[in-house]
Amino acid sequence: MTTTTALVVTRNGGPEVLEVQQREVPEPGAGEVRVRVGACGVNFIDVYQREGVYPIPTPFVVGSEAAGVVESVGEGVTGVAVGDRVAWAMHLGSFAGLAVLPAAALVPVPDAVDTETAAAAMLQGMTAHYLVTSTYAVQPGDRVLVHAAAGGVGQLLVQMAKERGATVIGTAGTDAKADKARALGADHVINYRQVTDVAAAVRELTVGVGVDVVYDGVGKDTFEGSLASLRPRGMLALFGAASGQVPPFDLQRLNPAGSLFVTRPTLGHYVSDREELLWRGGEVLDAIAQGRLHVEVSGRYPLADAGMAYRDLEGRRTTGKLLLIP
Ligand code: NDP
Repeated sequence: MTTTTALVVTRNGGPEVLEVQQREVPEPGAGEVRVRVGACGVNFIDVYQREGVYPIPTPFVVGSEAAGVVESVGEGVTGVAVGDRVAWAMHLGSFAGLAVLPAAALVPVPDAVDTETAAAAMLQGMTAHYLVTSTYAVQPGDRVLVHAAAGGVGQLLVQMAKERGATVIGTAGTDAKADKARALGADHVINYRQVTDVAAAVRELTVGVGVDVVYDGVGKDTFEGSLASLRPRGMLALFGAASGQVPPFDLQRLNPAGSLFVTRPTLGHYVSDREELLWRGGEVLDAIAQGRLHVEVSGRYPLADAGMAYRDLEGRRTTGKLLLIP
């Protein structure tokens, strides 16, 4: 039996519950492939799963996103062959030297995109893609507010909303992060650790109107300000909870606030079949290959140092994307 190193959540808790262990790797079954993983993408969903906010029986191999080279294919697999470079975004158990997963979960990586960049881009890239194309389809002239604009999803949202012709207002927790968001195209950036009334600042920047859409992955700490930043009939896309979950909310409040829309989207529902996965994943990787989308990899850690990576992510010390290298 083949074995591999894997990053295991031994019980629910903080980064200290992560442990590198040897695990057996099965032969790929029908419709499956085995991939030698080159790089793994760190995401906030790993934190929610590790903590038990999204319950999964422990112990489990953590990680949803990675890229690598196909090593063997199971019965009935078509369209992917040994030696192909592939990437994926939504397969729990990905943080390992070898991963066995359904061929249908894979996106081919173009020659112009290296394996690390592909691993960095899939989950956050397809998330930013569905948010700006499908949840609220950004139009030229729209005003868009992106929270945590120097973060992984944030940086990609800024670039994609700018490419679609929007005026982008970002928020960030430090001046250095604000500079990073500006360098990626944000028209204005509010340091929301210094400016307490973000909505008032947004109103000033939009001449009293408010924004058409807020992309909010911060959650508890930003939710109220996000609502108060919208124009009448604007949309709040609450796509995450980096600061904690938003408490229960009285829907009636949306009426006097401007007939507002609030949605709580998740990637799985926006890559609902293989065609949609290939469309979104393909557009993200093509934009990188063509130099239209920049993915910042700000940290690379060996699997054994994963705890440090998550302490940095959860401690708000990171920008862009962190990778684990098995
Ligand atoms: P980021 O790289 O954006 O890191 C989170 C950032 O949030 C921090 O750097 C920090 O930026 C900001 N933040 C504000 N308050 C806190 C806090 N109390 N603790 C930690 N961070 C805080 O992470 P990702 O890009 O990986 O994810 C961003 C969000 O997107 C997460 O909520 C994640 O769950 C969500 N997500 C949702 C998906 C979906 O389909 N629904 C898919 C992928 C991600 P600053 O210092 O500038 O404030």
